[in-house]
Amino acid sequence: MSPLVPLRPDLAALSGYHSPQVPAEVRLNTNESPLPPPDAWRRELADELARLDFHRYPDRGAAALRSGLAELHGVSPEEVFCANGSNEVLQCLLLAFGGAGRTAVVFEPTYALHGHIARVTATAVVRGARTADFAVDGDEAERLLAAHRPALTFLCSPNNPTGRVEPTELVGRLLAAAPGLLVVDEAYGQFARSSALDLRAGGVEDAEATRGLVVVRTFSKTWAMAASRLGYLVADPEVVAGCEAVVLPYHLSTPTQLAGTLALRYREEMAQRVALVTEERGRVAAGLTALPVESWPSDASFILFRPRTRSADDVWKALLDHGVLVRNCSSWEGLDGCLRVTVGTPEENGRFLGALEEVVA
Ligand code: PMP
Repeated sequence: MSPLVPLRPDLAALSGYHSPQVPAEVRLNTNESPLPPPDAWRRELADELARLDFHRYPDRGAAALRSGLAELHGVSPEEVFCANGSNEVLQCLLLAFGGAGRTAVVFEPTYALHGHIARVTATAVVRGARTADFAVDGDEAERLLAAHRPALTFLCSPNNPTGRVEPTELVGRLLAAAPGLLVVDEAYGQFARSSALDLRAGGVEDAEATRGLVVVRTFSKTWAMAASRLGYLVADPEVVAGCEAVVLPYHLSTPTQLAGTLALRYREEMAQRVALVTEERGRVAAGLTALPVESWPSDASFILFRPRTRSADDVWKALLDHGVLVRNCSSWEGLDGCLRVTVGTPEENGRFLGALEEVVA
């Protein structure tokens, strides 16, 4: 049957992005928080929802949420933009500042959605390659930026799926070299020791130097709220205004805004979850070094590894037979033979390491 309307030709070759959600007892494939949010948060949210004026549109400016986030980061609400997950934040950035005739630079292997959303918004994508140990080479990056003059440069830090945080020095170098915006995707930022937000905190003298810096964060990982779909950026008010110009009216529902505003009262509990994950990350990393797999150091809530005795496809299937679902990255550019495991609860990590030991023996 011929299509009713042919798909835009530039999208025809694009495949969707998703992780197969096959049923498994231990789900370590999408980097969710292994623990739910605190019960007290859930009760507060339920109380608020019980009295919510559902017949009214949400606050378009998301004032309470933005001022809560502004306070968290020591910035003004005009420097914060919120959306339905950080993916929607990325989409707004590309709609506002990318588009036909403009270019975005990414450093592969990295989070596939940066390149994917760029193409959906008709932004040309230039893919820089990382070094053999998945680092971004500063000299190479500067050459690429000078040659292509991108409107947006994406840097994922810690990088998904390879795990390392980018050194502050490199972020500073790219910021100086990027002709447009430098978008630092810190979906896993709280699991790392440094953040690009530290550059923004440098004082008035640095304000001009960091004008092009956009830091993107999410409530999906550290805040344990993936179901809520809430993300945000911290950037110059001009960037916020650009995103507001392209986003749909009332895009952020009142329940979503409430979920985020209330979550900010539970910073201590959030920090506890981060501490548990970082401790368990050390245990999983140590467990992997005892097995015939190559693995890479991680500053995030997941670890990339490559089995030495069997193919990634075989190991992925065999782990699933043991009830453990991980992410198969082996078909991604530059990640031959690689799998990615999300750090789970101590029990889940024990199940994973036990199953992997049997599978790769
Ligand atoms: N950025 C990175 C690097 C991610 O890994 C993810 C989630 N997999 C996202 C953004 C999107 O997260 P969300 O839309 O849930 O905020």
